[in-house]
Amino acid sequence: MDCIFCKIIAGEFGTEFVAQNEHAVAFKDINPQAKVHILCVPRQHTKNVAELTDPEVLQGLFSLIREVASTATDGQFRLQFNTGEREGQSVFHSHAHVLSGREG
Ligand code: 5GP
Ligand code: ZN
Repeated sequence: MDCIFCKIIAGEFGTEFVAQNEHAVAFKDINPQAKVHILCVPRQHTKNVAELTDPEVLQGLFSLIREVASTATDGQFRLQFNTGEREGQSVFHSHAHVLSGREG
């Protein structure tokens, strides 16, 4: 499958992970829209968050989001899942944007 996030997760581009666990990885967005802009990405490929239903993967993803939010931000942040092209999704592998104006 030609999915850029699957390739990043597989280490094909040498992307540095700021955090990771069994179910998800976190890395800095290449085109940051805020002082802190980190993507939290499940290792499992689903095309968007609406199709992300596995409870263990969801638990792992949200555990990673909490870790990133508590270590990389001051505790105030936005969590965004763009879903569908019209709503701004450009990479069709589910991912959460963690955005914050303050570093932790
Ligand atoms: P979306 O628009 O699908 O919600 O978010 C995709 C995000 O992935 C965008 O903010 C874009 O900047 C980021 N992105 C796309 N390709 C790469 C890449 O190769 N490396 C990194 N670190 N971020 C990427
Ligand atoms: Zn993928």
